[in-house]
Amino acid sequence: MRIIKSLAPVFILLPFLLLISSCGEKQQPGPTKPLYELTKNNNIPKFDADNAYNQVKAQVYYGPRNPNSSGHDNALNYLQNELRKYCDNVELQSFSYTGYGDEKLNLTNIIGKFNPDAKNRIVLCAHWDTRPRAEKAADPKRRDEPILGANDGGSGVGVLLEIARILKTNKINFGVDLVLFDGEDYGKEDDLDNFCLGSKYYAVNYKHTSVPAFCVLLDLVGDKDATFAKEGNSLRFAPQVVDMVWGIAEQINANKFLNKDGGYIYDDHIPLEQAGFKAIDIIDGDLIGADTPVKRRNYWHTHKDNMDNIGKNTLQQVGDVITQLLFTLKFNP
Ligand SMILES: [Zn+2]
Repeated sequence: MRIIKSLAPVFILLPFLLLISSCGEKQQPGPTKPLYELTKNNNIPKFDADNAYNQVKAQVYYGPRNPNSSGHDNALNYLQNELRKYCDNVELQSFSYTGYGDEKLNLTNIIGKFNPDAKNRIVLCAHWDTRPRAEKAADPKRRDEPILGANDGGSGVGVLLEIARILKTNKINFGVDLVLFDGEDYGKEDDLDNFCLGSKYYAVNYKHTSVPAFCVLLDLVGDKDATFAKEGNSLRFAPQVVDMVWGIAEQINANKFLNKDGGYIYDDHIPLEQAGFKAIDIIDGDLIGADTPVKRRNYWHTHKDNMDNIGKNTLQQVGDVITQLLFTLKFNP
């Protein structure tokens, strides 16, 4: 992902609902219920940050997971097998992409579904690939070497795998798609065309009778000292979803979620927003650029993006907010 100053024009690919007024008779609009709302629930399942942490570690064990690497192959196997343990079904959305120097990349989005036939559904997503280069590495000779991506890639997936475990034993009555995007971090610095390859493919090939009510993207959600300001494009495209998620955070004292506006970030939520989805990004945006006041935190797109930076407390807060969202959300008939 990258910090961006402005967003490219938005192309809405999904059809608008046409409102056709009838002639003659005047219809009295009744009180309309919102599509969904949050309700009270005193039985929220427990999100286990130890499990999420171990799921980040399991990914890092395979080494860098950049496209066409052995780590990528091994992680693809691992992640689909994990999702198969928990989800009602798992789809692999495979596609190829011509990268730099005519390199043919074999990419796969991994989609774990709960209640696959439910019309009302939401998407929770993260990217599972890691960066093939490290342009922020201190040593110029190592800038072409791939990174481990414990936080940049691993953390969001780790949280979602623990969410999958929870959803296996705690049933909900709407659909949830856990979508692990490939090819998010392939692009060279500032070459946005070659970032977010999996989410672009997913968004334009989305086939379902209804679009998801909303999508929540998790990226860079594992740093010990993370903070989550409200990302700019999320506020622009899905302000109600931002309010809902940050409202939950306030209610449960998840104090890493800050009640302030953050920068505009180009990430997997952008292709979703451009396709008409209401998508938000929970992201520790200060990490981007590897230029924070805290020396330890300047590891973004370097080989220091490893387990040393991952904090269970952060995974816990993010996991608690998502769990609370899932188990208080109710779709109206
Ligand atoms: Zn990245």
